[in-house]
Amino acid sequence: MAAAVGGALIGAGAFLFSWIAGIEGLSLFSWTFVGLVGGLAGAFADSYLGATVQMMYRCTVCGREVEVHEHCGHPTVRARGWAWMSNDLVNVLSSVIGGCVAIGLGNILAL
Ligand SMILES: [Zn+2]
Repeated sequence: MAAAVGGALIGAGAFLFSWIAGIEGLSLFSWTFVGLVGGLAGAFADSYLGATVQMMYRCTVCGREVEVHEHCGHPTVRARGWAWMSNDLVNVLSSVIGGCVAIGLGNILAL
C-alpha cells in the first residue's frame, strides 16, 4: 500500500512539473496511474529479489536471518543468496525495474 501511494504521489508530482514546464503529455490520472504501477513493480521486484538471490546472513546470537553484517552486537554468518547481491544492489535494481515499468506504461498510455 505504501509503495502504491508513494508511487502515485510521485506520478502526481511528475504531472505537476510537466504542467509547470508547459510540456504536453499525460493527464493527471495517467501520470498518477503510471507512478502507482511503477511503485508496485519496484516493491514486488524488491520482494522477489530479496526472497531469491539477495545475500542474507544469520545472526549467531538470536538465530534470525538478517541483511546486515552485524546483529545483537556480533558479526553475522552467510546464510544464502549470491555473494555479490547486496541489499543495496537489490534496492538499485528494484528502483531501475520500477522506473522501466513506469516508462513503458507511460509510453503505452501516450500513444
Ligand atoms: Zn541477532
